Amino acid sequence: MGGSEDGHSNMNRRILGAAACAFIATGGAGQAGAIFAPGTDQAYVEQVEDKLHTPRAGRTDPFVTYGTDTNGDAIKWGGTTYGTPGGVVTWSLVPTGTNCTIMQQFGDCGSGTTTALADAMPSGFETAITNAFGAWEAVADISFQQVSDDGSPNGALNGNFGDIRISGYSIDGPGGVLAYAFNPDRSFDPFDSLRGDIFFDLDETWSLGGTTTSFDIFFVALHEIGHSIGLGHECGNDGTATPCEVAVMNPYYNPALSALQADDIAGAQFIYGEAAAVPLPGGIAFLSGGVIFLGALGLRRRRRAA
Ligand SMILES: [Zn+2]
Repeated sequence: MGGSEDGHSNMNRRILGAAACAFIATGGAGQAGAIFAPGTDQAYVEQVEDKLHTPRAGRTDPFVTYGTDTNGDAIKWGGTTYGTPGGVVTWSLVPTGTNCTIMQQFGDCGSGTTTALADAMPSGFETAITNAFGAWEAVADISFQQVSDDGSPNGALNGNFGDIRISGYSIDGPGGVLAYAFNPDRSFDPFDSLRGDIFFDLDETWSLGGTTTSFDIFFVALHEIGHSIGLGHECGNDGTATPCEVAVMNPYYNPALSALQADDIAGAQFIYGEAAAVPLPGGIAFLSGGVIFLGALGLRRRRRAA
C-alpha cells in the first residue's frame, strides 16, 4: 500500500525540501499534518512529518495540539487561548484550475493548479465532507458553514472563499500521503490564508465508506479537519509515541474507525470547549413558553413597581 519509491523521492525532493526551507524562513512554525496509507514505510512518515511541522507541538496528554504560535497565541480558530470558542469557520470547495503556485514554495502543486474534488471523487463526496465537519461541530464549541469559492489563487488574502479551502492534486502517487492540511496558525505569514486548507491526493482511489482498494472520503476528511482546527497526531507522527490512544488523529488511516474517538473529542474540547447545548425541538417550545411567561411576570412586576 505504500507509495512507490519514485513517489517518495519526488515527494521528498519537490514538496518537502522546499517546505522545510519555507518553514524555517517563517520562524519554524508547524503548519501542516498529513495522513498516511496503512503500511506506509515508517521512515517515510517520519520524514514527511518532520518536514511538515517542527516538533514544538504542546502535548496535552493524551491528545496533541500545536501549542502556541510565535505570538504566544493558541493555534486555533476564534479566541486566542485554549478552551475558548472557535466561532463560525467557513469552508469552501475550490474549483478546478485554481492557481496553486504559492504551493510551489512547499515544492509542488501538481500542474500549477488544483483540481475540484467534484472532478475527481464520486458523487456524495460533498455530503461526506459536510458530515465530517458536522462530527467535530457536534462535540466542540466551533461551527462550520459552507460558502462558495470564486477560484482565487490558493493562498490569496482577498476574495470570496472559505476560511478552510478544500481541493486536491497529484501529491505522491498511490499510497503514502493520502491528504494533508495546514493547521490554523495565525502567525504563519505570508501564507495566512492557507490556514486550515486541505489537499487530497488525487492519485488515490476515493470512495464513500472505503473498500480494500479505496479510501473513505469521510474518514480522511475527519482526520484532516482535525488538523485544520488545531489537533496534531495522537501517538506521534510515527505512530509510536506514548501514551497512545486509538484515535482518528493517529497518523495512519484506520479502516476500523468510522467516528471520532474519545481522545479526539477530548482534544477538540480542550481547544474549543464543549459544544453549545442544542435543545431538542420539544425543549425549544418549552423554552419559548418559559421566556414568554417570564416576560409577562416581569411586565407585571414593573407595573406593580410603577
Ligand atoms: Zn494527519
